[in-house]
Amino acid sequence: MLSKAVQKVSRVDLNARTGAQRTQKLRLVAQIFSSIINIWIGIQFYLFVSYIEKGGQGWEVSRPPGVEGWLPIGALVSLLHYLYSGLINSIHPAGMIIFVVILLSALLFKKGFCSWVCPVGFLSEIFGDISDRLFGRRVKPPAWLDYFLRSLKYLILAFFVWAIVYQMNAASIEAFIYTDYNKVTDILMLRFFTDITLFSLTVISLLFVLSLIVRGFWCRYFCPYGALLGLISFLSPTRIVRNEKSCIDCSSCATVCPSFIKVDKVKQVVSDECTGCMACVDVCPVSKTLELALVTKKRKVSSFKWAAVLVLFFWGSLLAAKLWGPWENSISNDEYIRQIPTVNQGTYIHP
Ligand code: SF4
Ligand code: SF4
Repeated sequence: MLSKAVQKVSRVDLNARTGAQRTQKLRLVAQIFSSIINIWIGIQFYLFVSYIEKGGQGWEVSRPPGVEGWLPIGALVSLLHYLYSGLINSIHPAGMIIFVVILLSALLFKKGFCSWVCPVGFLSEIFGDISDRLFGRRVKPPAWLDYFLRSLKYLILAFFVWAIVYQMNAASIEAFIYTDYNKVTDILMLRFFTDITLFSLTVISLLFVLSLIVRGFWCRYFCPYGALLGLISFLSPTRIVRNEKSCIDCSSCATVCPSFIKVDKVKQVVSDECTGCMACVDVCPVSKTLELALVTKKRKVSSFKWAAVLVLFFWGSLLAAKLWGPWENSISNDEYIRQIPTVNQGTYIHP
């Protein structure tokens, strides 16, 4: 019995361990890159709005279309508009492109967007690491509470699907897209943060505090985007598979899993919570025991190559759209200047 365990442990593959470190380094680089891009977009958009507020006087700053990536509800409306009419609307074209690329990424690469691209996911991880240090372990609510809280993001998603997909027909979607409200939703979003109310500040602060207690609190329990990607990820062609024969039951994979998945107890990871971070695959000390594989042919896939293709797919698609596709919107600076007093008065009401 003892010699069997020793045999298994002796299969630890140093090359695999080096490859694993390479994958997690790539992940960190990808997350930092994405965060820098998003911070850059945020600053540029802030400067653009300041320029518009000055009536287009002074140092001219152009509007970064990437800001539309932060308007997923508008993007869903735009996608429906496209499905009804076959046309990409000129109000928020980049938002729809980003939305579609994210959905496709979930289809191809599980919920990889959450742990390889999303800056909120990155921030959640940083908070999770602080939480681990504060408590000396990963804090997870009791199973009944965890199940209940996890269902909330699906309820929020169901609400949006009901309100947009079910309640709106082709005509109302077309009408909404060209409303003044939709044209300035990006500025309204900026105002949400620059003129934040006490209530919103309290809610956001509470989410921060709870994220310092439970790893990934927002992502796990409230993010409707994550819920949608989790559902699509079931169609993804790859799975993490565990070789029960060579597994030494060390539980390292389950310990590092940020999504609390019992990787060490299953043959395959089939979960809407798996973000494809590859931490479990990378930490496994036994060679060829926990691997990424194609669902159909059971062929193994290198987690590093999988991740590299995911990152290239995401950013390459957006770069291609920026260079050759519909990306810039058709709203002129004059129109923004005309609308900005109404935005600042706070009199816009969702139609
Ligand atoms: S199962 Fe593995 S890849 Fe999925 S979230 Fe957990 S550690 Fe990451
Ligand atoms: S990390 Fe997980 S799959 Fe790998 S040997 Fe340990 S328990 Fe088994």
